[in-house]
Amino acid sequence: MPITPKKYADAAAAESARMTELLEAHQERLERSIRRLEQRIQRSLNQLQIGLDGRIEGTPTMTFMQEYRRQLVKEFDELYGTTAQEVTQEFRQHLDEYESFIKEVDVPARFTKRDRNVFEMSRSYTLNDLEQVGDKARQDIEAAVLDGILTGASFDEVEQQIRDILAGTEEDAGRLLSQAGRIAHDGEMQFYARMNVTAAQRGGMSRFLYAGTIVGSSRAFCIARAGRVFTREEIDAWNSHNWRGKACDVWVCRGGYNCRHQLLPVPDDIGAVEVPSWFDDAPMSPKLADEVAKEQRAIDRLSAGVAA
Ligand SMILES: [Zn+2]
Repeated sequence: MPITPKKYADAAAAESARMTELLEAHQERLERSIRRLEQRIQRSLNQLQIGLDGRIEGTPTMTFMQEYRRQLVKEFDELYGTTAQEVTQEFRQHLDEYESFIKEVDVPARFTKRDRNVFEMSRSYTLNDLEQVGDKARQDIEAAVLDGILTGASFDEVEQQIRDILAGTEEDAGRLLSQAGRIAHDGEMQFYARMNVTAAQRGGMSRFLYAGTIVGSSRAFCIARAGRVFTREEIDAWNSHNWRGKACDVWVCRGGYNCRHQLLPVPDDIGAVEVPSWFDDAPMSPKLADEVAKEQRAIDRLSAGVAA
């Protein structure tokens, strides 16, 4: 007996809830560790001699810089390096959950050893990317401190530079925090984006659910599509459309930067899937409501073009 639309909708909602939870946990974990790293590095600046005018005094010695570098490497490894490992380890746990979802909704696609290998490869690329931005941040800090000593810069200025390189402020994330956050998000989402398409191909399916909830920061593009089912051709046609936040091919990036929506394959024989989407209790602003209405018209226009 084919799965009912209601059962499919529940399973899809559970899958995207697990995905959202994981993405949020990763962002929090990265932020916590980069903030802690920043505090530790700021504290290590106390080793410098500061004059009464708040400027750094003294000349840098080779020994001091070598020791400082050694300390930085250790601190980055302990805090950031460990977190990058943990975050990418957790990718694996979601793969099992995703496989159960595919089974549960009767998508006739089995995962192969090759899929697992591709997964491990994309996981190690993500880890490598996280490590690279970490190394760059560490080198930037070393250069900022050395420069600070050489030019007798103000202590506050060096502190500010370190903040900009690492975690930044609540309003304005530092470079490492925003880069690492983006790498973790993209690594996770892009792998599953590919799996969704692969599963659909193997199962001979041509319909996809724009899955995931709507939150306060959702784009009009996502709000207009969330909870609706589209054919492969309809989704392809979105690529010719321009919207606020468009980042890359819709199969890879969906709504754009930081989009948590997924295009989950839908078996052909289950009929219409009705998935309620909601707006996090907050009503839409008139401006957003207007943008969503425009997106809805764009969807209709593009779908009509496909049907013609
Ligand atoms: Zn989205």
